[in-house]
Amino acid sequence: MRKLLIDAGRSSRGWSRIGTFSRCPQLFAYGQRLNLTMIPAGALTRGSMGHVLQAHQHAIWGAVSEEGVWVDETWHDDPDVFLDPETAVEMWCSTNGGHEHLERMLETFRRYMARHPEPPGNVIKVEYPVTAVLGNKDGDWGLWVVHLEDSDFDRRAVKVKAWDGGIIEPTPLNCPGHPDSGAALVLTRRLDMVTKERGGRTFIWDHKHQARVQANKSVDGYAIDGGFAAFRIMGKQMYGSDFGGLGLNLIQTQEPWRVARPMVPRTPHRDAHFAEMLWREEHRLARLEVDSPTFWDWPKVQHETSCIGRYGACPGIKFCFYGSAAKTI
Ligand code: SF4
Repeated sequence: MRKLLIDAGRSSRGWSRIGTFSRCPQLFAYGQRLNLTMIPAGALTRGSMGHVLQAHQHAIWGAVSEEGVWVDETWHDDPDVFLDPETAVEMWCSTNGGHEHLERMLETFRRYMARHPEPPGNVIKVEYPVTAVLGNKDGDWGLWVVHLEDSDFDRRAVKVKAWDGGIIEPTPLNCPGHPDSGAALVLTRRLDMVTKERGGRTFIWDHKHQARVQANKSVDGYAIDGGFAAFRIMGKQMYGSDFGGLGLNLIQTQEPWRVARPMVPRTPHRDAHFAEMLWREEHRLARLEVDSPTFWDWPKVQHETSCIGRYGACPGIKFCFYGSAAKTI
């Protein structure tokens, strides 16, 4: 039997799309419109590899539990269908590169398993895709989770089935002249992991691999990331009063191989108008595409700490310096 390599990659219309645009429209245009190759930082590659390791281990743990586990869009109760984590990450590297980080990431994983030989709860979902759409439901406008059956819905449909079986009426992009005008505005996320306690309390987890785990310093940075607002909005709709919140599984990728599992602080003010911000950013992006077809000349944030961030210089910095001439440097 051919064993499964779990897709732990980014989702098709995830937060990174509009999040990158919000951070800097020019950076978005380099990657998404000019299709320039921007080498991901080593930390990002290690993060992807870490996700593959964690996804396989937690899928195996989930499959042996009473309830079974959803992985991607399929339910499983047989752990033998999954590749073991170490084989999976080696296969991932064969397609995506990253062999230079293999030894370090395997050691990180082995240290993690030695410290936490059990999952942080009963694993019920791994790399689970969630689709949400901006629209009206029961008289309220917002970002609504779509039922799994309807996750590939026609973006021009007038009605979509909601997670709870109700009806969502999408409010589509309104940008005359744009090819997507009239199409629903969709946000997708992949939940790294969902756990459920005996009493029913359910938590969404995100794995983060860091060179230095300092839980107190990290949580606010993650909490303000728009992707976590989306997780919380989705979690509340999917699990109602059983939703316990968002957890971070912070894993240090070097000595002393620290692991911390803090909860992500709530951000009620931002979450309450997240859908409106998403609506506005989608329209700002569409308007720019109609009005400013020269992608090299899109607005640039040009800010010291935005351009040189947590993982070092922005991968587009040379393009901002020299334009298309940087392609040959
Ligand atoms: S270097 Fe700064 S201005 Fe240029 S793309 Fe990156 S974030 Fe934007």
